[in-house]
Amino acid sequence: MSGVVVIGASYAGIQAAFAARAAGYAERVTVIADERALPYQRPPLSKDFLLDEIGAQGLLMHDEAVFADNRVELMLGHRVVAVDRNARGVVLAGGTMLGFDRLVIATGSRARRIAVRGAELDGVCYLRSIADAVDLKARLGHASEIVIIGGGFIGLEVASSAARLGKRVTVIEASSRLLERAVSPVVSRVLLERHAEASVAMKFGTAVSAVIGEDGRVAAVELAGGIRLGADLVVVGIGGIANDELAVAAGLECANGIVVDELGRTAHPGIYAAGDCANHYSRFAEGWIRLESVQHAQDQGRTVGLAIADSHEPYDSVPRFWSDQHDLKLQSVGLAARSDRFVIRGAIEAGRFSVFNYRQDRLVAVDSINNPADQMVARRLIAAGISPTPEQAGDTCCDLKSLLKTAGRAVA
Ligand SMILES: Cc1cc2nc3c(=O)[nH]c(=O)nc-3n(C[C@H](O)[C@H](O)[C@H](O)COP(=O)(O)OP(=O)(O)OC[C@H]3O[C@@H](n4cnc5c(N)ncnc54)[C@H](O)[C@@H]3O)c2cc1C
Repeated sequence: MSGVVVIGASYAGIQAAFAARAAGYAERVTVIADERALPYQRPPLSKDFLLDEIGAQGLLMHDEAVFADNRVELMLGHRVVAVDRNARGVVLAGGTMLGFDRLVIATGSRARRIAVRGAELDGVCYLRSIADAVDLKARLGHASEIVIIGGGFIGLEVASSAARLGKRVTVIEASSRLLERAVSPVVSRVLLERHAEASVAMKFGTAVSAVIGEDGRVAAVELAGGIRLGADLVVVGIGGIANDELAVAAGLECANGIVVDELGRTAHPGIYAAGDCANHYSRFAEGWIRLESVQHAQDQGRTVGLAIADSHEPYDSVPRFWSDQHDLKLQSVGLAARSDRFVIRGAIEAGRFSVFNYRQDRLVAVDSINNPADQMVARRLIAAGISPTPEQAGDTCCDLKSLLKTAGRAVA
C-alpha cells in the first residue's frame, strides 16, 4: 500500500482525506481506525444521544457510500501500534505493515483518568466514544444519584442531560467556578444559575479523595475533608490527553501533542498531524496551543488534506466551540484566557447576551448565550483584528458589522 495513510477516522482524519481528494490528490487514501463504528459525531454523545433524541444512525458523519464515491478506503477496527517513519510504514496490531507516501496522524485525545482509590470500581464512567455513550446511557437508566467529577464541558453537558432524565445530580469542581479556563466569569455564573434551577447541585474548590464501593460497585464519592456523597453512578470529566504516543515513539517532536506548523506538517517530511492530538502556534493564543474542538479538528484536517494535494492554505481559523446545557446554547469564539476587561452586550436577564472580552483594548474573545448572530460578527472581527471600543460593543444599537465594512474601506 502507498498513497496517504490516515490514522484516526474522526473529524480531523476524515476532513484530511476528503480535502485531499477534493483538491485533486489521485493516489490511494486509506483511513485506519481502532473504533469499529463508521465515522460519527461526538458532540451529541453527551446531549441528544443520552436523551435518546438521536440514535446511532443519526450520529454518522456520512453514509458508507460517500467514502466509496470519494475513493476513501476505511479500515475500521484496526489499531496502529507503531509508525516507522524511516521505512515509511505503519504497523497494525497483529503485525501487518502498511506503507505510506504521506501519513496523517489524527488520533485525537482520550479522557484523563482519575487517580484516586476506588477509581476502577464498576459504575465509574468516562465519555469519549460511542461505546462509552451506549454504556453510560444504559447505566443512567438505572441510576438515581449521579456524581459528576469535573465542571468542564463534558461534565456539565452530562449533568444537564441527567437532570432532564430526572436524576439527582451533583457536580464536583476543583476550581472556584465553572469552565474557568474557557469562558468569562459572567458566563460561568449564568450557567451555574441555570444548573441550580434544574436542581443540579455544585461543589466548588473541592477535590475527590476516593470513590467508595460496596460489593465492587460505586456507592459514594468521598471529598477531601471526608464528606461522603452517595452515588450509584460516577461520571468523570476532568479533561483530555493527546493521543501522541505513536508520534513520540516514532521520534516526532511532541509537547502536549504533536508539534506541527501552519500546514499541519511535522518536522519529518510527509508526516502530518491534525485535530485534538496536534499542538500548533496560534496568533490568537499568542503561543502554542492544543485545542479540542470540532471546528479546530475539521479546519486543521482540511489544511492537511490540501497540503497533501500541494495546495497550501495555512491554518489560521479563529478558535470556536459550543456547548448545549439545558436550554442554553453557549458559543465562544477566540480565546478568553488572560483577558483583562469585559463588556456585556444584550440583557443577561433576557437569557440572550454576549460577553466581549478584551486584552489591552484588543477584542480577544466573545462568549454568547443564545446569540448566534453576535458570534458570526465576532468571528469576523477577531479574525480581521478589528476591535470595537468597549462602548460600541456594549451598545446593542451599534451595528458591529459596519465596523467590518469601515475597516475594509480603510484598507482599500
Ligand atoms: C462527549 C463529547 C462531547 C463533545 N462536544 C463538543 C461540542 O459540543 N463542541 C465541540 O466543538 N467539540 C466537542 N467535543 C470535542 C470534539 O468531539 C473533539 O474535539 C473532536 O472529536 C476531535 O476530533 P479528532 O478527529 O481530532 O479526534 P477524535 O474525535 O478523538 O478521533 C480520533 C480517532 O482516532 C482513533 N485512534 C486513536 N489512536 C489510534 C490508533 N493508534 N490506531 C487507530 N485509531 C486510533 C480514536 O479511537 C478515535 O476514533 C466533544 C467531545 C466529546 C467526547
